[in-house]
Amino acid sequence: MPEPTKRCPYCQARITTDSKRCDVCDKKVGPPDEFNIAKKPFNWSGYFSAAVTGGAFFYFMYWLFVLKDK
Ligand SMILES: [Zn+2]
Repeated sequence: MPEPTKRCPYCQARITTDSKRCDVCDKKVGPPDEFNIAKKPFNWSGYFSAAVTGGAFFYFMYWLFVLKDK
């Protein structure tokens, strides 16, 4: 019986289903989806920096149009 494999979403290499990291490109991969392609793990640090950047921009606009002229 062959070892169960999934595909890396980054480089399309075949890796074992339960591996957490691609053997070929060394990127983190999640469990396989319905097409047997590994899911990309959620990037919390990217999400957090995007939220901080968006929040800072929103506050800047608020400061520019609301607080500055008082
Ligand atoms: Zn890969």
